[in-house]
Amino acid sequence: MTSRKERLRLTPPSEVYNRDVTACQGYRVLLSNQGTKRHKHPTRRLNEDGASVTCAVPGCSVLTNRKDGICRMHFQDKSIDRKAYVHFHTADWYGALLKTADSNTLGTARVAEHFEVIDWLLAWAGPDQARVSIVVEFTLAAVRAFHGVLDNATELQRQLVAARNGAGPDSVIATIVALVDRFFPSSTCDTQSVNIKFKDLGEISLPLKIGATMLALGLACEEINRGDATDVGVAKAKRAGCWMPVTYLLLRTRTELSRAKARICVNPRH
Ligand SMILES: [Zn+2]
Repeated sequence: MTSRKERLRLTPPSEVYNRDVTACQGYRVLLSNQGTKRHKHPTRRLNEDGASVTCAVPGCSVLTNRKDGICRMHFQDKSIDRKAYVHFHTADWYGALLKTADSNTLGTARVAEHFEVIDWLLAWAGPDQARVSIVVEFTLAAVRAFHGVLDNATELQRQLVAARNGAGPDSVIATIVALVDRFFPSSTCDTQSVNIKFKDLGEISLPLKIGATMLALGLACEEINRGDATDVGVAKAKRAGCWMPVTYLLLRTRTELSRAKARICVNPRH
């Protein structure tokens, strides 16, 4: 039997969104809501409205008004993992790198982890402390602009369906474009590149603007998919949201830790 999570993965969002954040020298960075990993809504419960619904436990047909979406009998059943019955976001928003000629399909898109993108930009900076400062200040400006400000994944999807002008995912793109332009202005940065290594492509040279956009977009998606600050207020937020990847950047720029050791600190599985 497929799990709820698996079924969600296979169900497309109610309205598809694929839009370029930036395009430059044969590459583009795209914001899409077609990610395949819907995250748990950090605050919302399965039956938040308290409607009369069928118990969410498979095979149970009991009607319940309980907000957690499972009937009283199953609520009291200790063998039931109640954490499995949570409200998932209605879309998974992610940033992807494509060649300009590629179609908007998931199969051609490349998604990089935060620490990879941070390493690309740090490789561009090299020993030049002025450049290192640009990368750090750019990242801090991005998380301050996003944390508790960007709408969560479900709300972005709702605004997309409602097609509100100026709101929703288009405004996320506008925020990112403005940030990148502020720290990596075209006048000085358009001729610069970052070297990026992909398992299948080997090392390729990408415009600096593409690398910076990927970092900002990755941070934005972290906040959108996992952050809870917009739901509960920044002061009450339990999730670090887009602040999380900043740890790696600070370890790499403020300590003498090697790339490998810094990655272990951020994620012991590395
Ligand atoms: Zn039940």
